[in-house]
Amino acid sequence: MITRKVRKWEKLPGKNTFCCDGRVMMARQKGVFYLTLFLIAGTCALFFAFECPYLAVHLCPAIPVFAALLFVFVMAMLLRTSFSDPGVLPRALPEEATFIEMEIEAANGNVPAGQRPPPRIRNVQINNQIVKLKYCYTCKIFRPPRASHCSICDNCVDRFDHHCPWVGNCVGKRNYRYFYLFTLSLSLLTIYIFTFDIVHVVMRKYPLTVLEVLVCFFTLWSVVGLTGFHTYLISLNQTTNEDIKGSWSGKNRGQNPYSHKNIIKNCCEVLCGPTYPSVLDRRGLLQEDSTLVSSSNPVPQTTVSAHKHTHMHRHTHKTTAPLIPNEHTPDDAKPSIASSAEKSASPKEEHPAAMKFPPLASPETDAETSIAKERAH
Ligand SMILES: [Zn+2]
Ligand SMILES: [Zn+2]
Repeated sequence: MITRKVRKWEKLPGKNTFCCDGRVMMARQKGVFYLTLFLIAGTCALFFAFECPYLAVHLCPAIPVFAALLFVFVMAMLLRTSFSDPGVLPRALPEEATFIEMEIEAANGNVPAGQRPPPRIRNVQINNQIVKLKYCYTCKIFRPPRASHCSICDNCVDRFDHHCPWVGNCVGKRNYRYFYLFTLSLSLLTIYIFTFDIVHVVMRKYPLTVLEVLVCFFTLWSVVGLTGFHTYLISLNQTTNEDIKGSWSGKNRGQNPYSHKNIIKNCCEVLCGPTYPSVLDRRGLLQEDSTLVSSSNPVPQTTVSAHKHTHMHRHTHKTTAPLIPNEHTPDDAKPSIASSAEKSASPKEEHPAAMKFPPLASPETDAETSIAKERAH
């Protein structure tokens, strides 16, 4: 038997790509991300090559220096957003998934044939609002408040905002503030280049600048508009996902239970609040046993059954279904949840077999939290 050391990122089931031995994590589709890099770097290169020499001599030497600093900041924020774990939640292990299925079936009782089983939902109370936690059929967990499943990356992401193809990653709990700083600084950079392009055109009537002015002009509307939209969301402590679904709008909907009802407090929480560690432990080591077998019997049965046995043994004390708490999970729901979450994230628990387990149903793309407060009927 040969024992090979495998990093956990190599066995993660989502549709992500990893570089630098798991340190860099992105979505698989990266074409638009390369376009973003090209557009930013290309526009800045033209600015530095054709406008800056003239403006530095005839107007102010600080113009290229400030543009360079802003460019470095924009790129740093972009790469920080793109290359990080957005807050992916680990999937349930096969035994945990089996347990939760049993628990749900026991709770629902016998559903008569031909009738739809009740939706898999758990209610928790957050700031006097009842919030639904939906079951993810792909990850086999009840999603924590504000989490949602990204169909592109095939992961549940905590405080899911949206999947952004421009940055080539999901935007969630762990990279939202960098995404916002990226859009904000890119807006400033675009306005800066656009303004000095106009100045250059007026001073010199340089034909290439006209092309740059046009690119900047069209970028300006979209990037500044996006920054404005996210500033509005941050002031309400709302995610794009919640805004699109109208989770907290409409007369039958409750108020946003995560909002502090104060713009400054909301901005401070989103932009200056604590940073959260990744629960994936991407660079943690897994022990993978592989027996040398002939091609006619490619599955090492003894190894698989041995693993199953150790897993079953470990879970005999288990009392609840896998649920992962976040800072919004009410305290009374946490103790039972925390133990299973710890197990899911613990290096010893993650196992290659968990990744091969097929989903029960197609990935659920919508929905996590929504208010279950009594509707005025
Ligand atoms: Zn999921
Ligand atoms: Zn995604």
